[in-house]
Amino acid sequence: MRDHLWYDATQVHIGGEWRAPFGGAQLDLEDPSTGEVIGSIARGTAEDIDAAVTAAQAALDGDWGRMSALERGRILAEIGRLVERRIDDLAIIEATDVGKPLTQARNDAIALARYMEFYAGAADKVHGETIPYLDGYTVYTLREPHGVTGHIIPWNYPMQIIGRSVGAALAMGNACVLKPAEEACLTALAFVALAEEAGLPPGALNVVPGLGEEAGAALTSHPGVHHISFTGSVGVGSLVQASAARNVVPVTLELGGKSPQIVFADADLEAAIPFLVGACIQNAGQTCSASSRVLIQRPIYEELIEAMAARYDAMISAPARTDANLGPLISAKQKDIVTGYLEKGRDLRVAGMGSIAEGAPEGGHYVPATLFADVPPDHPLAQEEIFGPVQVAIPFETEEEAIAIANGTDYGLVASVWTENGARQMRMAKKIRAGQVFINNYGAGGGVELPFGGTGKSGHGREKGFEALYGFSTLKTVAAKHG
Ligand code: NAD
Repeated sequence: MRDHLWYDATQVHIGGEWRAPFGGAQLDLEDPSTGEVIGSIARGTAEDIDAAVTAAQAALDGDWGRMSALERGRILAEIGRLVERRIDDLAIIEATDVGKPLTQARNDAIALARYMEFYAGAADKVHGETIPYLDGYTVYTLREPHGVTGHIIPWNYPMQIIGRSVGAALAMGNACVLKPAEEACLTALAFVALAEEAGLPPGALNVVPGLGEEAGAALTSHPGVHHISFTGSVGVGSLVQASAARNVVPVTLELGGKSPQIVFADADLEAAIPFLVGACIQNAGQTCSASSRVLIQRPIYEELIEAMAARYDAMISAPARTDANLGPLISAKQKDIVTGYLEKGRDLRVAGMGSIAEGAPEGGHYVPATLFADVPPDHPLAQEEIFGPVQVAIPFETEEEAIAIANGTDYGLVASVWTENGARQMRMAKKIRAGQVFINNYGAGGGVELPFGGTGKSGHGREKGFEALYGFSTLKTVAAKHG
């Protein structure tokens, strides 16, 4: 990767400068495709976080805080252009760091550029309103940045999540401290370098890689942070919320899911099948919105299982940069978790199972994509987020039963309904408990315009789209009495 380095993976980036973390410690950088250590990354500390928050506040008190929305938008647009020029490099970095197939990594880089473009255009289009009030008053509202925003992100889609959270926060004029995941932080470092090359003032974005319980916890408890955006697991999300609550800081939580796709007997199966499988196994199943449950109406159950199983049987897990349809999992730890679930399903019916490519490195974290059928809705495999290429199929008879099963987990992130019946589409969309419901598709191509977030244990608050700009700002009411 040497030829792609325009940033320093072993350092933190604070106030526009690269420097060694306080304490000088490093963490191993592993290639999930081989399990080999290929370098090291900075182990940021609480002192680095403190310095980053100070730098962010200084940016708000300086050039960045004084900049007009129009100018902020122009900088974001330029960041988007620089990202676009580096799409191939960013894709290689991400594929190596996360283990995702090159095409998927490339799509993430394209999405990052698109987020910059979207939030560039939106920056000067968020405004308050005037409110009719008592005679002698003029009342209006101002949309203002929170101030210093903390961003803690996971390893599965670093570029997409930086785009949607940092992009929206910068558009609103916040100054950000980004703590990427210890398993995959390279594109966060690459991004801040591009952002400053595009003209982002020093301190407007600071990146401190490090461990969650060290750098992450220091960020969520820092009294100088005014808003936290957290994307990750439910367990850590609840810790983050509790920590932020001590300083009465608002939190957006983008957590896990157990998202269902519901297929009725009248569905266009040919259109549905690629989505039914693809939306689960993308990124080796390590996607918050993975459709890890497929609910199938009885009359088409066996036919559909057979068609899905054929796709599973043909699926090959191989090193990321060979661009197989499935890469490795991120780590040995994740492989243990997923293998544990496969073990828990040993008494279930395995309808389809992929394989691991011949010659795939021994140390890589590969698991075969697996489809289980006839899974009871209350089985752990049908209830818990596995975060691997494992999908369960559940039969149902009636619409009511489908809704009960779909809503029968702690989560509520994404759902899809496949049916040609328009009235049923509307009823289902209303009754399903989820942040987003797709009809006769899954994900709608992931458009950056579409607000995204969860209900239940999938979290709260919305990112993406225009809605995110409200989340990354606060409303001030001004009431002027003029007699
Ligand atoms: P994780 O919760 O283990 O880690 C996420 C981030 O939190 C990392 O940067 C980590 O260093 C940090 N962290 C860990 N402990 C912390 C602490 N005590 N205080 C502060 N920060 C801490 O999650 P993960 O394993 O990296 O990611 C997988 C999870 O993320 C899955 O549950 C997945 O569904 C979820 N996710 C959700 C979305 C969404 O948009 N809803 C998107 C992607 C991933």
